[in-house]
Amino acid sequence: MLIKYCLMKRFLIVLIYVLLATHYVDGQEVVRIGAFNHYPAIFKDVDGEIKGFYVDALREIELKENLKFIYVFGSWNEGLERIKNEEIDIMVSVAYTEERATYMDYCSSPLLTVWGEVYVDDSSDIDGIQDLQDKRIAVMKEDINAWCIKDLIRKFSIDCTFVEEDDFDQVFNLVASSKVDAGVVNNTFGAGKSREYGLRSSGIVFHPFDIFFTVKKNTHPDLLELLNNSLQDWKYKSTSVFNTSRQKWSHGKVDSIQVSPSWLKETTVLVIIVLILLILFIVLLRFKISVATRKVKKSEEKLSRALIAAPFPIMIHAEDGEVISINETWTELTGYSLEDIPTFSDWKERAFRQERPNGKRHIDELYLFNSKMEEGEYKVFTSWGEKVVWDFISAPLGSFEDGRKLIISIAKDVTERKLNEVELIQAKEKAEKSDALKSAFLANMSHEIRTPMNGILGFADLLKEPQLNSEEQQKYIQIIEKSGVRMLNIINDIIDISKIESGLMEMNIKESNINKQIEYIYTFFKPEVEAKNMRFTFNTPLPLEEAIIKTDREKLFAVLTNLVKNAIKYSEKGFIDIGYVKTGKHMEFYVKDTGIGIEKDRQQAIFKRFVQADISDKEARQGAGLGLAISKAYVEMLGGKFWVESEIDKGSTFYFTVPCELELKETTIASTELADGELDSQIRNLNILVAEDNEESALLLSILLKRNCDKISYVKNGYEAVEFCHNNPDVDMVFMDVKMPQMDGYEATQKLRQFNKDIVIISQTAFGLAGDKEKAIEAGCNGYISKPINKRELMILIERYFGHKKELHSELVEND
Ligand code: ADP
Repeated sequence: MLIKYCLMKRFLIVLIYVLLATHYVDGQEVVRIGAFNHYPAIFKDVDGEIKGFYVDALREIELKENLKFIYVFGSWNEGLERIKNEEIDIMVSVAYTEERATYMDYCSSPLLTVWGEVYVDDSSDIDGIQDLQDKRIAVMKEDINAWCIKDLIRKFSIDCTFVEEDDFDQVFNLVASSKVDAGVVNNTFGAGKSREYGLRSSGIVFHPFDIFFTVKKNTHPDLLELLNNSLQDWKYKSTSVFNTSRQKWSHGKVDSIQVSPSWLKETTVLVIIVLILLILFIVLLRFKISVATRKVKKSEEKLSRALIAAPFPIMIHAEDGEVISINETWTELTGYSLEDIPTFSDWKERAFRQERPNGKRHIDELYLFNSKMEEGEYKVFTSWGEKVVWDFISAPLGSFEDGRKLIISIAKDVTERKLNEVELIQAKEKAEKSDALKSAFLANMSHEIRTPMNGILGFADLLKEPQLNSEEQQKYIQIIEKSGVRMLNIINDIIDISKIESGLMEMNIKESNINKQIEYIYTFFKPEVEAKNMRFTFNTPLPLEEAIIKTDREKLFAVLTNLVKNAIKYSEKGFIDIGYVKTGKHMEFYVKDTGIGIEKDRQQAIFKRFVQADISDKEARQGAGLGLAISKAYVEMLGGKFWVESEIDKGSTFYFTVPCELELKETTIASTELADGELDSQIRNLNILVAEDNEESALLLSILLKRNCDKISYVKNGYEAVEFCHNNPDVDMVFMDVKMPQMDGYEATQKLRQFNKDIVIISQTAFGLAGDKEKAIEAGCNGYISKPINKRELMILIERYFGHKKELHSELVEND
């Protein structure tokens, strides 16, 4: 029965073993692993779970091999017992001993190399192995480190007490609670848990040794191989689950390194400082860049505002011809908007109308030289067809965003300046012409006066020759006379034009037979015309009795005579024709010649005083340039018009009109109407004083007055004149020269009037200018006579003031 019982028991044990050793849960093979508190490799956490880096690593095998690991927790010692009793399959962290090798198979590579280390609390003075004398030291039961420290203590003959605990946690507990002076654990536990317990390593380390995974002896060869292979994989790979998990658990539950080398700290601090500086620098740089960008933007805005509002036209265009922008002034002045001229060629086409073919070449050159370029002035057509002149300047303006080079073209509207320039040039030309005219006039006047003077003085000198016969004398006198007449003509012309211009020219309207006048002129000039081998014809379409008009006969005669004289003077061949036609209430006179003709641009000027058509005096014909000016003035006074039609080298026809019936508003005494005979015997026995500083003039007056006076006295200045009259109150009449030395005629007259109101004072002047008469009357003169003294005028004056002046005047009025 006992044998039966024993057999039964053995059978049950084998069954349990088999069941436990190889049983399966949910299809997974179950493997039992001995667990104990050996932080951080393996330990029971506060939540009761078994954790540690062995557990993490074994978990990988679990998953990979589809195994189920069950941890059987107990003390280290219990673990060893269990594997011995086959209650578990794997034991961890087992140091090699021969005894253990009898019931466990070791993996070929160790899990770790560990060593024993003595830990103390922070306040402990244990610093070396000798300091353990008389101390209480906690160790773990059956721990190889415990054996070794005991061995070491013995060798050093140190006396101390050992307290044995089940696991390393209890060892540290005792040290932390000061129940012992020191505790022995292995280094991995110590590094992982010393902080938690507030302990530190005493520096006493000893007996390094390897620890292994072990399996129950001779039972699990496949498990042993699996563990060996996995260890090979894990140990040499820093990222393996074994290594990473070990790191993690060795340094508490935080995923960071607690102890690091000092250089790493310094480098880290340095790197952080550098990083901070770098960040500061970048922030500063960004700030500066943003300030600069804002500035640039602002100045760009300012620039573009300035460009837009600039009072002159501005265009910006790219090198490919695209017009990027134009300002408002450009559009305002041309009428073209950016849409009208999107490219430079569009602009060229519209504005220059192909008048500026090389515009693009300029621009190309500009891109080439990269400098400012004055393009010059061009005519620009506006959109409304006006032609203006612009002065262009272009310059490179950097590059566009897309890399194209830009050009800025600035223009200035110089149209007005151009016009002014043209006007200036014209004015200059005119001034030069007028200068030439003045010079020509002076040269001509000089010639006109010197020629007769030469005749007068030259032949007067010759007359002094005693051996001259009477024939020669007569000839010389004739020449002097002729020259005198010519001289007088010039002077008369000058005086006439002065009178005309000062409004003093008088008119004498009478009936006049124009046929007779023309015939007379024809007869008079015929010999002269024929002497030049030219024909002279006249045309008087009205019958003699109907050819009567009311006009100033003298002036009409003077105009016709002047025109015929000119026709002879300015013609060398062909004919001269004089005549008139009646046109309504006007007579239109003409004098036609086939002479040299007058340039078109001189046909107006010749009617101005002192102006001749031939400025350069090529023909060198005599004349003062006054004839036509006087004639035109006469015709206009008579209420007519004057004009000329002429062609160079073909001839000229001068026309003028006069009204047939001229209404005279104001009748004046015309000296020329008196006949010589009427004057002579009127007045005699006058006592006359001639105040004249020029002897010849005084002599001439005395000769002219000889018949009318029985007494003529002379004084040479105003002062003498006043004195003479004062001393001779019987003087009837004074001929007072205006310009005299010491006291002039005006002053003398004023003085004279202070004591004699009755005396007749006639002022005489050689100036012949407007205003002389008024000035004389104002000074107290009764009348005025101009030099050269005309005999008839003189007689009229005498008649007016002495004798029959009233009768004579009324007679003249009646005759008109
Ligand atoms: P002048 O004393 O010089 O003849 P006028 O006033 O009579 O002065 O004439 C002005 C200018 O007109 C002349 O100098 C001459 O150049 C031009 N002229 C006048 N009449 C004629 C003509 N019949 N043919 C060509 N030129 C003439």
